[in-house]
Amino acid sequence: MYKVMTPGPTQVRENVRMARSLVCTNPDLDEEFVDFYKETCEEISELLGTKNETLILDGEGILGLEAACASLTEPGDKVLVIENGVYGEGFADFVTMYGGVPEFYHADRLNAIDPDGLSSYLKEHHDYKYATVVHCDTPSGMLNPVDKICPLLKEYGILTVVDSVSGMFGNEMHVDDYQIDLLCGGSQKAVSAPPGLTFVTISDAAKKAMHERKTPIRSFYASLPAFDGYYEKKWFPYTMPISDIYGLRAAFDNIKADPDLISRTHRIAEATRNAVKEAGLPLHLQSGFSDTVTVFDIPEGTTCDAILKTMRKDHHIMLAGSFNDLSGKVIRIGHMGNNANFEDMITTMLALSETFDSLGIKLKGNLAELFLKYYEA
Ligand SMILES: *Cc1c(COP(=O)(O)O)cnc(C)c1O
Repeated sequence: MYKVMTPGPTQVRENVRMARSLVCTNPDLDEEFVDFYKETCEEISELLGTKNETLILDGEGILGLEAACASLTEPGDKVLVIENGVYGEGFADFVTMYGGVPEFYHADRLNAIDPDGLSSYLKEHHDYKYATVVHCDTPSGMLNPVDKICPLLKEYGILTVVDSVSGMFGNEMHVDDYQIDLLCGGSQKAVSAPPGLTFVTISDAAKKAMHERKTPIRSFYASLPAFDGYYEKKWFPYTMPISDIYGLRAAFDNIKADPDLISRTHRIAEATRNAVKEAGLPLHLQSGFSDTVTVFDIPEGTTCDAILKTMRKDHHIMLAGSFNDLSGKVIRIGHMGNNANFEDMITTMLALSETFDSLGIKLKGNLAELFLKYYEA
C-alpha cells in the first residue's frame, strides 16, 4: 500500500470511507435522500462563499467542466478560452464539441495570468458569451488570480466558467466575491473524497443564459438544467450515487470542522517550495505557485521514472509526474486536503532526499531538514 502524495486523488479519511458503507435507501423514491442531497449542496455553497445553487453530478471532475460548457454553448457562440496550462487549453475542446467557437487568450505557461494584460485585450475584444479559466492548472501547479480575472470579464457582461477542481479548499475561493458564474469542483482533490463526483455552483445569470437558449442542449447527462426543480418534484434526472454522496458529505463535514485547512496548506506549501529550492531543485514556475501542489524540474543525471519508481519501491510513497508538454520533465508533490499535514510531508521529504541520494544526485541539503527549518507550526 502506498502513501498517496499525488495532486489528486488524495488520501481519504476513515470517516469518509465509513460513510460510504452506510445502509442505502432508494435515492429515487426516498424523500429523506432528496433532503440530504439538497443540504449537502447547500453546505458546499456555504463553504465556497456563495448564495448560488450547487449541484452534485455523478461523474469525475471532467463531467463538471463539460456540463458547464454543454449547458451554456449554442452553435456559433463565441467563447474566450483563457489559458496558460493543459486544463486551460482543454476547455476549447468542450466549446467546439457543443458547436461553439473558441478564441484563445494564450498566456505564458510559467507565470500567472496578468490581469492588466487581459484587461487591455478585453478593451478590443469582448464579444463573448462566456469565458473559461482555470484556478489551479494542476499539471504545472499554476495558480491564476481568478479573483481579479472574473470581475474584469463581468464588466463586459461575459459569463465566467472557472475550473477550481484542484484549487478550492487549498487556496482561497469565494465565489460571490470573485463573481464566478459557474465554478467546477471535484471530489478527489483537496476535498479528499474518492474520485467519482463533481459539483458545480451556478449563478442566476448563468441559469438565465441556459433558459434563454434557442436550441436544446446537446446532451442529457451533461445538462445542468436537467436538474431544474428536482427538489420540488422529488425527482433526479438519473439515479443518484447515494454512497458516493454520503462519502462526499462526510468529506465536506471534515472541511467545515477544520477552519485551519487553508492556512495549514499554505504553511506546508511554503515550507515545501523553500526546501525544494534551497536543496537546488528548480521550481518549475516563476510565479503563480498553487498551495495545493509543488512542481519541480527533474535535475540532470536522473529521470522522472527513476524518481517515481524509487519513491514507490523503497519508500511506498506515490508522487506524480505530469503530462502533455510536461511529460517526463517534472515531479509533482500533492499537499492538498488530507495530504496537507506535517507528518506525511516530513516523511515524504525525507524519502525524496534518500531517493536522490540513492540515484546519485547530490542535493544542497536534506529536504526534510530544510522543510523543518521553514515550516511554521
Ligand atoms: C483533476 C482535475 C480535473 C478533473 O480531472 P479528472 O481527470 O477527471 O480527475 C479537472 N481540472 C483540473 C485542473 C484538475 O486538476
